[in-house]
Amino acid sequence: MSYFKDNIDAMTAYVPGEQPKAGDGAVKMNTNENAYPPSPKVTEALREFNCDALQRYPDPMAREFSAVAAEVLGVPVEWILPGNGSDDIIVMISRACAGPGRRIVYPTPTFEFYFTQGAIEAAEVVEIPTDENFALPVDDIIQANGDVTFIANPNSPTGVTASIDDLRQLAGELDGLLVIDEAYADFAEVTAIALVSEFDNVIVLRTLSKGYSLAGLRLGFGVARSELLDGLMKTKAIYNVDAVSATLGAAAMRDQDYKNDCASRIIASRNKLAGDLEAIGFTVWDSQANFLMVRPPAGAEASDVCNNLKERMILVRYFDSKRLDDKLRITIGDEEQNKSLLNALKEILPQ
Ligand SMILES: *Cc1c(COP(=O)(O)O)cnc(C)c1O
Repeated sequence: MSYFKDNIDAMTAYVPGEQPKAGDGAVKMNTNENAYPPSPKVTEALREFNCDALQRYPDPMAREFSAVAAEVLGVPVEWILPGNGSDDIIVMISRACAGPGRRIVYPTPTFEFYFTQGAIEAAEVVEIPTDENFALPVDDIIQANGDVTFIANPNSPTGVTASIDDLRQLAGELDGLLVIDEAYADFAEVTAIALVSEFDNVIVLRTLSKGYSLAGLRLGFGVARSELLDGLMKTKAIYNVDAVSATLGAAAMRDQDYKNDCASRIIASRNKLAGDLEAIGFTVWDSQANFLMVRPPAGAEASDVCNNLKERMILVRYFDSKRLDDKLRITIGDEEQNKSLLNALKEILPQ
């Protein structure tokens, strides 16, 4: 006997990347956090936060935060739906649009959480494999015609980025909702925000976890036309964004210079690390995110490299799945961390 619904019993749970204890000295390159701390303006806002405000419920729409997000992206504030991380928006979308007899579609490999949400809603999940270059399979996705289609762009764990023209074609031809998950947009050359004005079935997801160095805060948002958000709103937890997050998130987004400066440094480090890894025999895929997908040189198993790095207190992400088990996903660190990684790899790799 089980207390749970059949589909919950049948599904496997999402497994988050390992989080070592703070202060244990690990070089953390496994969950795509920012290499740099949050803006000093965030620290300042936290110091000045009046705790008496916590006596009351927060604004259910976090309007102060949403207004800053809207201004930064150049969209009306009515187009912003704040969430407890962008994961929360993925949950709202799935609750609103997926279920028995309704299809969730996404290209693979990608963020596993889309699968998790499809399974929770007992939706039909259609995975569309990408080709050997992990390019977006536009025609196959159109054919599958999901009630919801998820595209992470840049994609994780590949870092591969689809063009705005491909996304526009999807938006125009799909009958259902197109969710463009831009968790890594702050490091990328492409954004689909413009498609929100062009199409009523597009929602773009943003997060403060990566670009704004605030993974621990839990704040993200969706950008879509108000009519679409009105539907999603029905599935929102009442007070999904707490007062502290909303205040600190607004402070972080007001400081675009700081965020852009960190992003530029990470992009420069990413390009340098890609070249350095290729020089020691790795295959490196083009990435527009704050991580690289790489394949170790012949003779070195990805899982062994991951374990050997771990013994040296360097964490990278290994995925034990068919298309990824010969690869690693490495989050870009600061210059010192990237050097530690390279030195460790030179020791580990067979000479
Ligand atoms: C990190 C990530 C997210 C979610 O981040 P939150 O911390 O929940 O805002 C969403 N999608 C992808 C593809 C990610 O990599």
